[in-house]
Amino acid sequence: SRTYVITGAASGIGRTAAEILTARGERVIGVDLQGVDVSGDLSTPEGRLAAAEEAAGLAGGTVDAVIACAGLSIPKPITASVNFFGMTEFLEAIRPALTRSEAPRVALVSSMASMQPVVPSLVDALLADDEAAVDEIATRMAEDPRTANVIYPSSKRAISRWVRREAPTERWAGAGIPLNAVAPGTVVTPMTKELLASDEGRALTDAYVPMPLNSHQGPESIAHLLIWLTSIENSHCAGQTIYCDGGADAVLRGEDV
Ligand code: NAD
Repeated sequence: SRTYVITGAASGIGRTAAEILTARGERVIGVDLQGVDVSGDLSTPEGRLAAAEEAAGLAGGTVDAVIACAGLSIPKPITASVNFFGMTEFLEAIRPALTRSEAPRVALVSSMASMQPVVPSLVDALLADDEAAVDEIATRMAEDPRTANVIYPSSKRAISRWVRREAPTERWAGAGIPLNAVAPGTVVTPMTKELLASDEGRALTDAYVPMPLNSHQGPESIAHLLIWLTSIENSHCAGQTIYCDGGADAVLRGEDV
């Protein structure tokens, strides 16, 4: 069996991926604030490092795949920190354990929201690994209702760009590690529960993310793709953000391929 480390494994997409893999007989080491194998806070540099070290230790030094799901969608600076550094720094820290696997794989969760308008200075600060600048810009954005909700799309744009920039390098493709992201549309999880509970919330969400195929789906719709991307079968897909969104990207972007 393969050993998977899954962040955000206590809820939603991460939890579902962990359940499917465990049922298939794979070994899963979950990372989350609480309630799984490794309790850790991915919003701080120390938390990311400690969680990566503990997960790699529990795995016995060799990790076959990482599925990075942990994330937040609240209009606060911590969303930028968890969604970006909570994935990228965690992955950098656990990379040595991946290089010991015979078939290492990594998949991250981006979002359809990565295509929405962003604040370029925040995206640039994230990609420059400048956490102090990120805090400063995101704090200013959070104070203004016109920009507070742009923190989330900016963090996800940065994730998709990071995957594209990193995947072909020596650290990932050069080490035989396919690195990809999945961009979900609107998924029914605790993250979207409140939003989807009211008619207004649903109408607003569906206007941003129109999903002609099967509309609102549960977390298994995303988990299966994350599992394929991190399976041995994926030997050639790298650097992609794959939209798993009921056709929303095709509706919004049309033939602009
Ligand atoms: P969820 O809220 O059910 O799960 C997210 C998990 O991340 C939770 O268990 C939470 O405790 C964990 N987490 C949050 N902050 C953390 C921290 N500081 N340290 C460690 N763990 C932390 O949400 P979900 O819908 O399963 O979301 C999973 C991923 O999918 C997120 O990255 C989210 O942005 C992305 N996504 C979700 C949707 C959707 O519609 N649900 C759409 C697009 C993208």
